[in-house]
Amino acid sequence: MNQGLLPVDEALERLLAGAQPVTETEEVSTLEASDRVLARAQRSTLDVPPLDNSAMDGYAVRIADGVKLKISQKIMAGSVGKPLERGTAARIFTGAPIPTGADAVIMQEHCQVEGDHVLLKKNPKPGEWIRLAASDVKKGGEILAAGKRLLPQDTGLAASVGIGRLPVFRKVRLGLFFTGDELVMPGEPLAPGRIYNSNRFTLRGLAAAFGCEVHDYGIVPDSLQATREVLRRAAAACDVIVTSGGVSVGDADFVKPAVEAEGRLLMWRIAMKPGRPLAFGTVQKAAFIGLPGNPVSSFVTFLIFVRPFLLKTQGLKDVNPRAIAARADFDWPEPDARREFLRVKWNAQGGLDLYPTQDSAVLTSTAWADGLVDNPAGQAVKKGDSVRFLPYTELYR
Ligand code: AMP
Ligand code: MG
Repeated sequence: MNQGLLPVDEALERLLAGAQPVTETEEVSTLEASDRVLARAQRSTLDVPPLDNSAMDGYAVRIADGVKLKISQKIMAGSVGKPLERGTAARIFTGAPIPTGADAVIMQEHCQVEGDHVLLKKNPKPGEWIRLAASDVKKGGEILAAGKRLLPQDTGLAASVGIGRLPVFRKVRLGLFFTGDELVMPGEPLAPGRIYNSNRFTLRGLAAAFGCEVHDYGIVPDSLQATREVLRRAAAACDVIVTSGGVSVGDADFVKPAVEAEGRLLMWRIAMKPGRPLAFGTVQKAAFIGLPGNPVSSFVTFLIFVRPFLLKTQGLKDVNPRAIAARADFDWPEPDARREFLRVKWNAQGGLDLYPTQDSAVLTSTAWADGLVDNPAGQAVKKGDSVRFLPYTELYR
């Protein structure tokens, strides 16, 4: 039944073999670096924290001096105190450097102040409430690896060692266009037989979520000339071109002949549902991926194929989505002979519910869902089974 169909993993492997990582880098302000891909590993030139400091508001003491101590100084965050005199305590605040000679901080809740003395109601333990110098970052140590997509906390970490600018790969230029004489943009009247161009919104949003510089060429009519012309323009400006529609073998499917005329093309029939036809090729220096027009199919094939392709092109090392094992709270008694990506949603019991219609033209299923169950070809699912779940939160990174 799967004769002539290419398994998803094989298609992905061939596709990724053709992905050329961007090599040009640029420097951006660390404030603007979130979501970008780091081009070179970053090391710290500092110890963080630079000095031993207090983790609490309280008193810095020398344990050997006992529990009744004269308050000899006050040390605020941002200032450095004097060495601790024998028999005294230093009033100290969170983040303030520990004075020389002190070996513990006792939190203020465990202290009683009497005039200019402090009584410790608990015996301090050595090192208590002291954050040691370099306990977070060691001078010379690597803090961020090359090829990592920077999260807000990564930029915070870079800033904590004083790095104000970061080298990142330039953004991948992604060209998009949408084939079909039937397509109309929202806001325009819908003549009989026409449909709204929903793929433009879904695919452009995905491309932006993956940090691409999007070049959107809009709707392209079903004509060889128009398709060739937009392919040439997109190829001159972009690293990757992704299209929707026109990759079947119908009379109005001009993507295949247009890419063949302008470059090279492989047509694949993938053993997956939704999304059987997929086109892959090159036009000039640009890679080309043609997705099916069906809205659910283009969404799923974008996540399964275009996503890792773009991530590799962006210079990321780790392009595979992390699946999690989850409990199916549904039956799927008649699986397809192809690998299926089912739209599912978490329920309050921590299991997964299935969208009632898995028809690949029902875009509602994708909006309702929290992710996709990756179900092997021909494998039935029974309530309670563990399934391979790809949450959108994983697919969108
Ligand atoms: P195609 O792959 O061009 O044969 O299109 C398959 C189905 O998807 C047809 O029903 C099209 O009308 C529909 N379709 C194609 N492109 C889009 C689009 N951009 N937005 C929504 N539906 C589309
Ligand atoms: Mg079409």
